[in-house]
Amino acid sequence: MRLAKRVEQLEMSPTVSVMLEAQRLRAEGKEVIDFGAGEPDFDTPLSAQESAHQAIRDNLSHYTATAGLAALREALAGRYERDYPLQVAPEQIFISAGGKMVLYTLMQALVGPGDKVLLASPYWVTFPEQVKLAGGVPEIVPAREEDDFVPQAADFVRAVDSRTRVLILNSPVNPTGAVIPGAEIERFVELCRKHDLTLVFDECYEKFVYPPARHETPAVLADRLGDRLVVVGSCSKTFAMTGWRVGYALATPSLVRALNKLQSHTVTHASNVAQAAAIAAIAAEKESVPAMLREYEKRRAVMLDGLRRLPGVSCREPQGAFYTFPNVTGLYERLKVKDSVGVARQFLDKALVSVVPGEAFGAPGHLRFSYALAQDSLALGLRRLEELLA
Ligand code: PLP
Repeated sequence: MRLAKRVEQLEMSPTVSVMLEAQRLRAEGKEVIDFGAGEPDFDTPLSAQESAHQAIRDNLSHYTATAGLAALREALAGRYERDYPLQVAPEQIFISAGGKMVLYTLMQALVGPGDKVLLASPYWVTFPEQVKLAGGVPEIVPAREEDDFVPQAADFVRAVDSRTRVLILNSPVNPTGAVIPGAEIERFVELCRKHDLTLVFDECYEKFVYPPARHETPAVLADRLGDRLVVVGSCSKTFAMTGWRVGYALATPSLVRALNKLQSHTVTHASNVAQAAAIAAIAAEKESVPAMLREYEKRRAVMLDGLRRLPGVSCREPQGAFYTFPNVTGLYERLKVKDSVGVARQFLDKALVSVVPGEAFGAPGHLRFSYALAQDSLALGLRRLEELLA
């Protein structure tokens, strides 16, 4: 079969591939500890489940508005107003089938052939691929390990030219757990204002930031960028709803209209049942989110302690999300491998521990460990690695 060039150039998402490999080994009866999966192990809050059941019983089973259920747009607008000093109208909210589809639609709306899009590495695997799918050219600006992987606006200035249209930022960062402080976000906003770039800010992990760090959003600086700011969020991580597929964006009404036009020819709208669940999840947020945050914080400590015990491994303390991104270059000689793909392969083959190599995120020499798994599994996986490297 002759496939279109855009598909031939595309790789399967490496994080999805790692997850599938772990599932395959489990199906063979092997007890794999999967540090690769980027999803919460918690159940969706009960009230959200109930709300979905009710939506089914109420026959919410027909096509509804492309923009999303009015009640969910209102709930999300209200949530921004509650969390920040912001006034948000429901017409500024776009809802789609997960944050990934929101970002895909955004790239289709904002990026044309040959347009440059700036993004920091280590990056979430999907950003550059979505830019390419829109015909754009991703321009990667590395964040430094010695800056705790926090992207620096000053490094991006040099990368801007007349073809640059969009800058994508993500905080807390997948895969490093870095959190971009407010002062740095202001610098990025200023850079976008000066060079007329649209800032796409992905804050899908906004609720998982460990004190004293705190999440800062450019949404509060919207007046400086006018229609050149889009903030993307998702119910996936916040409410442990990855499989339900509900994500959203805060943008100007004109951009939301453009996104809806595109969406009317793709997924039409996010599932009604999932949207009904999201409304209930937002209403119960004060109960569910703090408990998850506390648990992640404990796991982060277990993870860091375990990783720092491994000879040849060094690890910065992540401030948010549920990932660590240790440097494993010190293991190459010991394991007789030449890169972090080799390290990940040996971890899987010899210790049945699954991780994602840094190459997937544009940052070789590292591995991404998710700590969104139960503490006993965490401890077991780390013990296996300690034994392997002993
Ligand atoms: N953005 C980032 C940084 C992510 O890590 C993810 C998922 O892993 C997403 C967006 C998309 O998540 P979803 O499509 O489940 O909302």
